[in-house]
Amino acid sequence: MKIKFLGAAREVTGSCYYVETEKHKFLVDCGLFQGSKELEAKNNDDFGINLNEVEFLLLTHAHIDHTGRIPLLYKRGFRRPIYSTKATRDLAEIMLMDSAKIQQSDVEWENKKRQRRGQDPIEPLYTSVEAMNCISLFRSFYYDEVVKINEDIRVVFRDAGHMLGSASLEIYINENSNTTKIVFSGDIGSGNNPILNNPSSISGCDYLVIESTYGDTIHDPYKESVEALINIIEKVSSRGGTVIIPSFAVGRTQEIIYELNSYYDYKIKDNYEKKVPIYVDSPMAFEATKAFMKNTDLFNQDARDFISKGDNVFEFENLHYVKNVDESKMLNNVKFPRVIISSSGMATAGRVRHHLKHNLWDSNNAVIFVGYQAQGSLGRILLDGIDEVKLFGETIKVNAEIYNLGGFSGHADQNILMDFVDKMQVKPKKIFVTHGESDGAEKLSQLLESKYDVSTIIPELYEEIEFEPGEYNIDEEISTSKENNDLYCELAKIKAKIDRLYENEELFDSKKMSSEEYNQLNNQIKELKNKVMTINMITGE
Ligand SMILES: [Zn+2]
Repeated sequence: MKIKFLGAAREVTGSCYYVETEKHKFLVDCGLFQGSKELEAKNNDDFGINLNEVEFLLLTHAHIDHTGRIPLLYKRGFRRPIYSTKATRDLAEIMLMDSAKIQQSDVEWENKKRQRRGQDPIEPLYTSVEAMNCISLFRSFYYDEVVKINEDIRVVFRDAGHMLGSASLEIYINENSNTTKIVFSGDIGSGNNPILNNPSSISGCDYLVIESTYGDTIHDPYKESVEALINIIEKVSSRGGTVIIPSFAVGRTQEIIYELNSYYDYKIKDNYEKKVPIYVDSPMAFEATKAFMKNTDLFNQDARDFISKGDNVFEFENLHYVKNVDESKMLNNVKFPRVIISSSGMATAGRVRHHLKHNLWDSNNAVIFVGYQAQGSLGRILLDGIDEVKLFGETIKVNAEIYNLGGFSGHADQNILMDFVDKMQVKPKKIFVTHGESDGAEKLSQLLESKYDVSTIIPELYEEIEFEPGEYNIDEEISTSKENNDLYCELAKIKAKIDRLYENEELFDSKKMSSEEYNQLNNQIKELKNKVMTINMITGE
């Protein structure tokens, strides 16, 4: 068996792994390289494998650095199934369309310059059509289901607690009477996501591919970062300034909104003076929030409790979703204390760059980074400290205060990464450390070697590493999964939920709803009806 590392090797972005077993060939993730120009240039490279031979693709989660090259795969002829969780599929659809839009508009801009220079136009990496079409290849599943891919390979998606639908993959490969179990950690959550569950523990494996984004870091405590966020907002707005929060539209933005909802609805309550307007200026964030509301069954208990009390956790009085470009531009014509949450999170693209252009020069303002900033990104450059930056051809002085709130990270820190391996009863024979810059990967790999006496490898990009088949006891593992996923038991839980809804007729009184709420509910009930009919067909009822 071998794995070829087609991305996220000694760097964070571009996750893509090619696994070859005796009989099968498949990919795990197919992400975009993001950050500096040199990094992004790698997206055009050949995958270095024969795409016709790839039988399927497994996805850990919807972030673009794990999915962003899927439309390119499609463009180059890939038509095989893509396996993911249902929420990953919902989010990937939104994120890949957005990615295609960015690719197209970047090229349009570039081509105008090329035309003036008398050069031939270039093609975008892919278009919205390819992004839309590749979604038809998705097959989606729930957590803890045993998914039989073919006669030899089974996969279980375990909740990784990193973003909605994110998973660590347990892959069981049965060949020549041996079972090899490979685990791809995917991105592991920080363990303090306000909306999602904590990362699941994995019982063990033969081989582990683990992320190491923060392999050399211990995060600031989450609660401190939430407090700091509120304090900065109050300090800056009391002096009339604007707070810009560059934020990943999917995940981080919803977490920030969730925390602000708790603050303004439950702590501030009627103290209207403190309720500064909060603008979410990202069409994708708006779409993603809708996808979150479609998947509330994946939320943790606290978040579900809020929702069952009737609180829409993504809405509060002083929150406004900016719907169009005009509204977004208007925000920069008038000055008043406010908070603008806008993407992209690393300020490499998107509307946030306009807001930075209009606000960075003013020392009354502040910029708060709430996520990972890749090398070469504008976010990283601002955090490292710089006097001026160039935005849309204009030189802008950096006078605003720049903050980094590490506690909001969506990634496990060194402690949680070590914990992931610690909880494995059967320790891996070999660990491949990926998805981290050199410092993070090396530190984590040294720690793992010294603590568990296990051999680790930090692969180079495009390196191919061979390993012996494993000897995992598959029956024991799968039977535990089966227990957790007893179908009849699940059905009973759904029935109880429907019964509770049915008892409360008022909830469904259309006169008391806005037309948007009515349409949303109506669609969901129709979707449920279709699903029940499909189950009837399968069971022959
Ligand atoms: Zn991720």
